[in-house]
Amino acid sequence: MHPLRSLILAAAGNDAIRRVVATAPVSRDVVRRFVAGEQTADAIAVTRELVASGRSVTLDHLGEDVTDADQADQNVRAYLELLDALHAEGLAAKAEVSVKLSAVGQKLGERLALANASRVCAAAEQCGTTVTLDMEDHTTTDSTLRVLAELRRTWPSTGAVLQSYLRRTFDDCKALAGTRVRLVKGAYAEPESVAFDEHETDLSYVRCTNALLAGDGYPMFATHDPRLVRIVAERARWYDRKPGTYEYQMLFGVRPDEQRRLAREGETVRVYVPYGSQWYGYLMRRLAERPANTTFFARALVSHS
Ligand SMILES: Cc1cc2nc3c(=O)[nH]c(=O)nc-3n(C[C@H](O)[C@H](O)[C@H](O)COP(=O)(O)OP(=O)(O)OC[C@H]3O[C@@H](n4cnc5c(N)ncnc54)[C@H](O)[C@@H]3O)c2cc1C
Repeated sequence: MHPLRSLILAAAGNDAIRRVVATAPVSRDVVRRFVAGEQTADAIAVTRELVASGRSVTLDHLGEDVTDADQADQNVRAYLELLDALHAEGLAAKAEVSVKLSAVGQKLGERLALANASRVCAAAEQCGTTVTLDMEDHTTTDSTLRVLAELRRTWPSTGAVLQSYLRRTFDDCKALAGTRVRLVKGAYAEPESVAFDEHETDLSYVRCTNALLAGDGYPMFATHDPRLVRIVAERARWYDRKPGTYEYQMLFGVRPDEQRRLAREGETVRVYVPYGSQWYGYLMRRLAERPANTTFFARALVSHS
């Protein structure tokens, strides 16, 4: 892993750094680029704009690694409020939600996470949309896939996320290829024992792309990497996949011109839109991915403090 990336991911877990970054005025500008805002209404406003421009959306209420049941319950309620608002605004056909199990109690036990995720899935179904379970660090992969399998017994369209940096993922792709799967590179600092280096991660992404396109499921290719976007397009043709039988996904604020270009070409493009007050960990992962952003951010922080 890039040394700067490891450093930023380590800083993400440091309370003193968290306090400085979270309260610095410049944070607001950087945050606004990647996060829709803190309230449900902010998330709805951004969703409306994206949908009007021909893109689909998946919304993430920020707030991971919850360690008490009340907080987990509050996160569930935030999703229920959001789903009602999407339905009321007529946006549910184009906007789904992404849920991190650690935000709904996975650290307190798998049963609680399953019960809470079920509440979100039931509400999503009533509102006419779906849920995708985000994937977190590798210590949670088995548990998340078990919860996913349980949820799919009632809500078969619940989306999975698989990370190409994990050595295990090609096998997981083959197992889940008939279903709705988002393929990402992976965003957490993982040990070499379980994860590939950057080059191998890209090769793994291509192998997994093939496995997912060869199946009869609905793959969702979440990457900003121009080379991988080209390869996905080429492989989709090889496998005779028509636009609409798979989709591209990108993050809010990242490569918006490319998002619009793909949408203009008739591809389904879904934008991952995070919102909520707990934006710090999310922002750090975005900065870690792009050293250029980090340098800009660090300079701005120093000059404002
Ligand atoms: C919709 C979505 C959902 C995700 N869900 C999860 C999840 O559940 N679990 C998880 O672990 N990770 C998730 N991720 C994050 C993912 O794992 C990667 O960390 C993240 O997408 C960065 O990898 P990349 O494939 O975009 O390529 P990178 O290796 O970060 O970048 C490759 C190239 O893409 C281009 N690029 C990247 N960023 C920019 C930019 N800001 N501006 C211009 N060009 C850029 C550059 O050319 C760069 O060299 C998700 C990502 C997306 C898009």
